Amino acid sequence: MIREVQAKSALHYHEQTFATNWDVNIYRGCGHGCVYCFARYTHRYLDDPEFFTAIYVKSNIAEVLDREMSRKSWKKMPVNLGGVTDAYQPAEIENRLMPEVLRIFIKHRNPLVIVTKSILPLRDIDLISELAKLVQVDVFVSVSTLDENIRKVTEPDSASAADRLNMLADFSKAGCRTGVLIMPIIPLLTDSEENLRGIFELARKNGANFVETGTLHLRGSTRDPFMKAIRQNFPDHLQKIAEIYPGANADELYKSSLRPLIRRLKSEYGPWPEFTPPPPSFELPQEQQLSLF
Ligand code: SF4
Repeated sequence: MIREVQAKSALHYHEQTFATNWDVNIYRGCGHGCVYCFARYTHRYLDDPEFFTAIYVKSNIAEVLDREMSRKSWKKMPVNLGGVTDAYQPAEIENRLMPEVLRIFIKHRNPLVIVTKSILPLRDIDLISELAKLVQVDVFVSVSTLDENIRKVTEPDSASAADRLNMLADFSKAGCRTGVLIMPIIPLLTDSEENLRGIFELARKNGANFVETGTLHLRGSTRDPFMKAIRQNFPDHLQKIAEIYPGANADELYKSSLRPLIRRLKSEYGPWPEFTPPPPSFELPQEQQLSLF
C-alpha cells in the first residue's frame, strides 16, 4: 500500500551513520523486505507495523530539499540518500522521486552518497554522472550472499547480489567512486569462504574502490522477525545462530574466528583503502570538471 505524505524537512543529522552524518530519506518503509532489517522501528512512530508493505512516499521531498540546500547555513555536506530506507526500493519504480532529487543535488553542487540493494540507480545514471562531473559521488551496494536461494529468503525483493555488484562498473565509468558493503554477514548462511570470496572477486572485477565488511546486528525489534525467518526456512541453523547471538551482537568467539578469513580475502583481492567520505563543500578542481565535459 502506497501512502502519500508531505515532508516537513529533508536533511537530517545523525551522530553515527555510514559515510556522512547527513541523510535524506525519501520514503518511510522499504519494500526490499530484508529479514534482518534494522529500520523497522521507524514505523513505530507511525503506529503502523507494516514496514515492508505500507510505504509512505514523501511526494514534496525535492521541493523541501531545494529549500533547505538554498539556506546560507547549509555547508554542502555530503548527504547519504537512504540512511534509513533504500531510496531505490521497488516503490521508486512508479513514484520516480529520485530524478527530481538528483536535479536538486546538481543545482546545488552537493556531494552525494547512495547505498542500495537495487539496480534501479542505472535508470538515473545520466543524472548521477552529471552530478559526478561537479562533485564527489559515491555509489555503494550492500550485499550479503551470492546464493540466490538464500537471498530470496533474506532479502526477497532486492536485486540479485551479482547484478548489484556488476552495476558498479557502470558507475565507475560514470565518474563515481564505488564500494561494496559486505553486510550483514550471517553465521552459517553467508559466512562461507566460497560466498565471501565470490563477492570479493566481483568487487574487484567491477572496479570497486572500497570494500567494507560487517556482521549481522540484531538490535531491538530486529531479533524476533529474524529468528522467526530462520526457524521457518533454515531450522537446522536456529540453535547455533541463537548461541552466537546471546544479545544484539555476535559473540566475540565467532567474530574472532571470522577475522582471519576477511583479512586474507581483503589482501588477496585488494588492497582497498579505508573509506573516507568527501569533505564538505568538496568540488572537483575546475580543470577536472572541464576535462570531463
Ligand atoms: S534495504 Fe535496508 S531498509 Fe530496506 S528492507 Fe532491507 S535492510 Fe530494511
